[in-house]
Amino acid sequence: MSLVVGAGLFIGGRWAYERRRREELLSAPLQPAHKKIVRARVPVYNRLPLDLRKRLDGLINRFIDEVKFYGQEGLEITDDIRVTIAAQACLLIVNKDNRWFRSLRSIFVYPAAFKSKLLSVDGHVHSERAAVRTGESWSRGPVILAWDHAAYGAFAPHDGENVVLHEFAHQLDDETGVTDGSPLLDADQSASQWARTFQRAFKRLRDDVHEGRDTVINPYGATNPAEFFAVATELFFERPNDLREHDRELYDQLTHYYRLDPIEWY
Ligand SMILES: [Zn+2]
Repeated sequence: MSLVVGAGLFIGGRWAYERRRREELLSAPLQPAHKKIVRARVPVYNRLPLDLRKRLDGLINRFIDEVKFYGQEGLEITDDIRVTIAAQACLLIVNKDNRWFRSLRSIFVYPAAFKSKLLSVDGHVHSERAAVRTGESWSRGPVILAWDHAAYGAFAPHDGENVVLHEFAHQLDDETGVTDGSPLLDADQSASQWARTFQRAFKRLRDDVHEGRDTVINPYGATNPAEFFAVATELFFERPNDLREHDRELYDQLTHYYRLDPIEWY
């Protein structure tokens, strides 16, 4: 057997093994200890219909198996941390067939809000300024989270704010190669309809913020279309009634995209 053929068989065998392992994880129930964590720390789980709960169990299994967690500033990574973050992240894709956070390999978890060094370019001068963050999503890279905010976001599912949903919405948005508020749509969803709806809603939020009016959608969404998609996602999952009442078309686009209707859970 030539070296090339041998290497090919090895890679093919490994690929088949990994695929089988993934399928087993996706169809397995949660371990009892993990189930206990998710029931206590992520209350929305208890509201989900049984079929979605089963799918979420499998996705959590896969997430914990494939994504590496790194504790920062002395934080020890525990099952509490892994399961709580995995459950919220996977809620986004629980009903999207075969979707995954393809470029995600690692999550860095800080105990609390952390300092992020942002590079700003002014002419030829690059200056760094430290910003305090509760989460970051890097294009083609890791997600960074503050554990206290990630835990609270799960535990308070109706305040419309959830840092894990926010950062993982950016990860989905990034699937096209550009994080711009236009994620990869399934073939049965119209890209032009999506663009029209989101541009209109984004402009409305910008105008409201500019005029100092109260907004249903977090004003941070007026920063740019990518942030708008991320905060609209938070509201969609946590205060679906409010979002639908505020902007039915936007709600319908998100229902189509996530293939979920969170109003049914409450
Ligand atoms: Zn963001």
